[in-house]
Amino acid sequence: MAAAARMVNVVGAVTPDGDPDPQLFETLEQGLRSLVSSDDPALTALLFQIRLLGLTGFRPQTDHCAACGRTRVIQEPQFSPASGGIVCAVCAAHQRFPCLPLSRGSLAFLQQALRLTPAMVTRLKAAGQVRYEVEDAIEGYVTVVAGRRIPPVDFLSQSL
Ligand SMILES: [Zn+2]
Repeated sequence: MAAAARMVNVVGAVTPDGDPDPQLFETLEQGLRSLVSSDDPALTALLFQIRLLGLTGFRPQTDHCAACGRTRVIQEPQFSPASGGIVCAVCAAHQRFPCLPLSRGSLAFLQQALRLTPAMVTRLKAAGQVRYEVEDAIEGYVTVVAGRRIPPVDFLSQSL
């Protein structure tokens, strides 16, 4: 229920009111349905949010620096919630908000989550460093896009 609430809240926060969007609604329905068979609802919600950002014009930039557009391989990429993607070291030093470290494995996970079809994406797994880095990056970015904090998936257990 917490993961479902998070999905619905994020959709509500990143879309304009009163604007019909059948494709987005279908994606939300698919996302909620995939929770039924999920053994990791928090991961399912994370993958859904990545897909949602891509659909709503906020696709996280993972190919080149989101601030200066430099395309050469970025050493030790960092994720900038304000710029909506990875940034190079030079740009990371000039961001208004602190950037989040993103390891190669986390970057690869993010790229796969954006590229795979909804049916295939459910096979993605993330644990340990990749899991918390991608969760932090998406949490930060969703907060910037929505303009406010959305209750996290584990808000039910936190309030107990
Ligand atoms: Zn840059």
